[in-house]
Amino acid sequence: MSAAPVTVRAAAKINLCLGVGPVRDDGYHALATVYQAIGMYDDVTATEADGWSLRVSAHERIDVTEVPLDDSNIALRAGRLLASHHGLDRAAALDIDKGIPVAGGLAGGSADAAATLLALDRLWRLDTPDEELLRLAGELGSDVPFALLGGTARGDGHGEQVTRVADAGSWWWVVVESDIGLSTPRIYAELDQMRGDAVPDPEVSVALLDALAAGDSTALAGALTNDLQEPALHVRPDLRDVLALGVAAGALQGLVSGSGPTCVLLCADHESAQSVRAVLHAAGHERVQVATGPVAGAHVVTYA
Ligand code: ATP
Repeated sequence: MSAAPVTVRAAAKINLCLGVGPVRDDGYHALATVYQAIGMYDDVTATEADGWSLRVSAHERIDVTEVPLDDSNIALRAGRLLASHHGLDRAAALDIDKGIPVAGGLAGGSADAAATLLALDRLWRLDTPDEELLRLAGELGSDVPFALLGGTARGDGHGEQVTRVADAGSWWWVVVESDIGLSTPRIYAELDQMRGDAVPDPEVSVALLDALAAGDSTALAGALTNDLQEPALHVRPDLRDVLALGVAAGALQGLVSGSGPTCVLLCADHESAQSVRAVLHAAGHERVQVATGPVAGAHVVTYA
């Protein structure tokens, strides 16, 4: 009898700080970041099949036309990697239901890769040890290990070495999506051009870690940083208005998420987040939502 399909849910990430260092010999930039998983999700359903196939659907507010359906899709790459890691000649049908905007700086593709690894591990009853899944995830992309882990964690190396950090808060974010995505490589290239050669190694700020451990939203607001923000704002100057409007409406601080163009606004509580959301919506930003963090990493939501 064939196994029942398995659905795994994985969350979007934001970077509370994102320090970008020099380009390493392997072509990656050295990163020192603190990730937080927030309550926006993609679901991946894996079903037994003789050959690989992929379908992508989404809520109507999400444009999936830029999501590749061929072997370059990171979910298919994840599936093939897991099969070859175990020496298996197996395949599956993958269905991705996207709730995370594409090319938004929220690592939706990485969430799909993490969800696929976990869904196939359960579908095929492989019991891959966590450390092995994390290592495979790191081969797929810098943000994929964090999508497995979730919560709040620092990322070192090129972001793939993840370690949980103390987080006493339950944080309220207003997430402002953009109609057009931004290419991550383009924003890194912009940063390299802006700052030349002598780039120090990046570090995670102690003030940020202290603010998280204390659950202190004012201190966290003062410690949010992103080295990719200036290059993202250079390419998309309109995002400055989003950040300024959010702060004027009562947010404690605004930040471009990763390489953008999604902006996130930290608010003191639920009430404040709702009123910041309403102001942005009234100003014409149609895709604005309130999300909390931290939330769990990739987890099974149906499993018969
Ligand atoms: P990055 O993870 O590179 O920082 P991002 O978070 O801004 O990117 P993603 O939604 O992860 O944005 O997608 C980046 C690009 O990856 C897309 O433009 C698309 O071409 C490609 N891609 C491959 N697989 C997927 C997938 N499963 N979902 C979304 N995009 C994918």
